[in-house]
Amino acid sequence: MTVAASPYPSLPVRPRSALRSRRWLLWGALLLLVALLLGVLVFLAREYEESRDQAAVERDAAAVASDIRSALIRNVQTLQSLHSVVPTPDSWMAPASEVLARHREMVRLEWRDNATSLIASRNTPYMAEPFGSMGREAALPDMRQACEAARRLSGPAFSPSYFWPMREGMGMEFMEMCLPVVRAGAPNGFLVATYSLPGILDELGNKDMLRGHGLAFTEADGTRLAVHSAIQGDRRVLRASTLLDLPGNSLMLQLESPRVSRTGFYGLFPNMLTAVVGALSLALLAVMAMLGRDMRRRQRAEHNLADALAFRNAMENSLVTGLRARDMQGRVTYVNPAFCQMVGFGPEELIGTGLPAPWWPPELVDEYQQRQAVRLAGQTLPREGYESMFQRKDGTRFPVLIIEAPLIDAQGIQTGYMSAIVDMTEQRRVEDLNRTSQERLQATARLATVGEMASLLSHELNQPLAAISSYATGTLNLLDGPIAGLPQADLQLAMRRIGEQADRAGRVIKSVADFVRRREHVREAVAPAALVDAIQPLLNLQAKKQDIRLQISVADDCPSVLCDRTMVEQVLLNLARNGMQAMPIGDPVSQSGLRVLSLRVALLRQQSAGRAHKRWVEFTVTDHGEGMSPEVQNKLFTPFFTTKAEGMGLGLSLCRTVIEQHGGALVHEPALPRGTVFRFTLPAG
Ligand code: ADP
Repeated sequence: MTVAASPYPSLPVRPRSALRSRRWLLWGALLLLVALLLGVLVFLAREYEESRDQAAVERDAAAVASDIRSALIRNVQTLQSLHSVVPTPDSWMAPASEVLARHREMVRLEWRDNATSLIASRNTPYMAEPFGSMGREAALPDMRQACEAARRLSGPAFSPSYFWPMREGMGMEFMEMCLPVVRAGAPNGFLVATYSLPGILDELGNKDMLRGHGLAFTEADGTRLAVHSAIQGDRRVLRASTLLDLPGNSLMLQLESPRVSRTGFYGLFPNMLTAVVGALSLALLAVMAMLGRDMRRRQRAEHNLADALAFRNAMENSLVTGLRARDMQGRVTYVNPAFCQMVGFGPEELIGTGLPAPWWPPELVDEYQQRQAVRLAGQTLPREGYESMFQRKDGTRFPVLIIEAPLIDAQGIQTGYMSAIVDMTEQRRVEDLNRTSQERLQATARLATVGEMASLLSHELNQPLAAISSYATGTLNLLDGPIAGLPQADLQLAMRRIGEQADRAGRVIKSVADFVRRREHVREAVAPAALVDAIQPLLNLQAKKQDIRLQISVADDCPSVLCDRTMVEQVLLNLARNGMQAMPIGDPVSQSGLRVLSLRVALLRQQSAGRAHKRWVEFTVTDHGEGMSPEVQNKLFTPFFTTKAEGMGLGLSLCRTVIEQHGGALVHEPALPRGTVFRFTLPAG
C-alpha cells in the first residue's frame, strides 16, 4: 500500500531533550552576558563617580592652598604696615600686639637688626611662653636661613618648618617668615614672624568649606606635621595633596573628604548614575524574565501543537474514510491519503484542481456540475449524505457515499466544504450477496412450506378420514342385514356424520393452507362450548374405543373467544388425543379407576398486571397417563419428535404455533396423582 504524502510539513525529528538542553545553554549564555554587561556598567559608573569626587576633592585642596597663600601674602602686607611709619622699639610694641591678637596663626613677632640682634619682640597673647622651655636660640638657624633667602629675594621668605617641643611632651610645628624692612630705600633690619602650622590651618583656611573635611600639612612621605581636623573612624575617604608653594619653602597640604556613603539601597548604589544603571539593569532582567516566561509558554503551545499535528497526521493516515476539502470555487484544498488511494491520484495531482473534478466519470459531468451549482448556491447539505459514482485514475468506477459539511474558519466565515467519502464497493458486494442468499433462502423456505403443509395435512386429515372410515364401516355392517329391517335413522345419522367429517376435512385443508401461508387469519368470536361440541363426536368415538371416560365442563360465565375456529378445534383435538394415547388399554391406571380425560374451559381469574386490560379464557386438558420424562419434556415442541410408532411428532409444535399466533400461551405440568396437564389461553372476544 502506498500512502500518499501529507500536504502538511512534518516537524523536523529531533530529540526533545537535545533541543531543551541547547535552549537552556543559549539562555544561560544570554543571562551570563547580560549579567556581565550590567556588572561592567555598574563598575564603570562607580569608577566615573569616584573619579569625579576625587577631582572635586583635588579642586578643593587647590582652593584651600590658594586661600592659605593669599592669607599669608595679606599677612605680609599687614606686617609691612608696622613699619610704614618709622617706629621706635617702644612704639612698635603696641601695633605688634594688635597684629598678634588679630592673627592667631602667628605666635611671635620680632624686629631684628640682623639675624642675631633683636630690637623688639612680642609673643602671642593666646599662648604662654611659646619658646619658654628651650629658648629662642635653638630656632635661630632656621630664622637665619629664612632671612638669608629674604635678603636674596628682597621680599618675604619662609624657613622650613621645625618641631618645637613644649611642656608635658607636647610640641608644635613652627615656621619662620622673614621680611626685610626698608627705610628710606636702605635695608633696616628684618621683621620675623613665627607661624604655627596648626594655627595656619585653623585660621587661614575657608572654615565653611572645610567643615567635615580633614586638613593637614604633611611631609613628602605622608607623615603629618600639623592637623587641622581628621575624619573620624574608618570611613572611606578621598584624599588630595597639593603643594603650598611659598617663597623659600614648600609645604604639602593634604585634604581629606569623606566619601559620600549611604546606607541600604543607596549604599549599594552610591550615586544617581549607578542607581539609574542598576534600575535599568533590573528592568532589563525583569523584561528578560518575562520574555523567558513568554517563550516557555510559546514552547508549550508549540509542543501541544506539534503533538496535535502528529495526532492528526496519524489519524488521517489511519482513516479509511476519504476526506476532501474544497474552497467556495470548488477547488480542492485538501485530500487525505485514504481519498488518494480511493481515486488513485496523488495529492499533488488533486490539490488545486477545480471543476470538473478528475474523479468524475465523463458521462456524469453534467449532472455533477448541476449538483455543485446547487451546493454553491448555498443550499443546505443533507446530513445523511448522498450516493454518487466516482472514477479511478485507471478508469474503473466505484460507488461512494458522500457526507458534506461546511468549512467554517476561526472568524466564523464559511471558506468551503469538507466531505467525507466512503467507498461503497464492498458494501454493495455484501448487499448483493445478501440479496441472492435471501432469494435462495426464500426458495428453500417455500419448498419447506410445501413439505410442512403436506405433513400437516396428512396429520390433520387422519382424524376426519379415520372417522369417515369408521362411519362407513358401521353403515356397511348395518347394510349387511335384511333390507326391510334397516334402521333408517341410524343410517341417516351415519351418512350425515360422514358428510360432516368430509366438510371438516375440507376446512382442515383450507385452514392448514392458510396457516402455512401465514395469511392474516380470519378471527371470529366463538363460544367455547361450540368449539368443544364440534370435536366431541370424534372424542367420544376414540374414548369409547379406549374405554376412557370423558369429563367435559365449560364454565357458565365463560365469554366467547376470538380465534380461528378450525385451528383451535385441531389444537383441542390434538391435546385430547395425546392425553388418551397416554392411557392405553392395559395401563395400570385401569385398575385405579382413573381412566378419565377431563377438558375444562373457564375464564382466567389470575390476571397478571401487564394483561390487566385483556381477559383470557383458559382451556385445560388433563390425563392420568404415565406422564413425561424430563428428556421428553425438553424435546416436546421439537417438530418430528415422537415416541410413538405411528406418530408424526408435529402435533404439539403446531398447537403451540397456533396458540402463540392468537397471542396466548401453551404450557404443561404434571397432573395429580399422575399424568399431565396441558393448558392454553385465548383472548376473550
Ligand atoms: P405425536 O403425538 O405425533 O407423537 P406430538 O407432538 O403430539 O406428536 O407429541 C410428541 C410427543 O410428546 C409424543 O410422542 C409423546 O411422547 C409426548 N406426549 C405428548 N402428549 C403427552 C401426554 N399427554 N402424556 C405423555 N406424553 C405426551
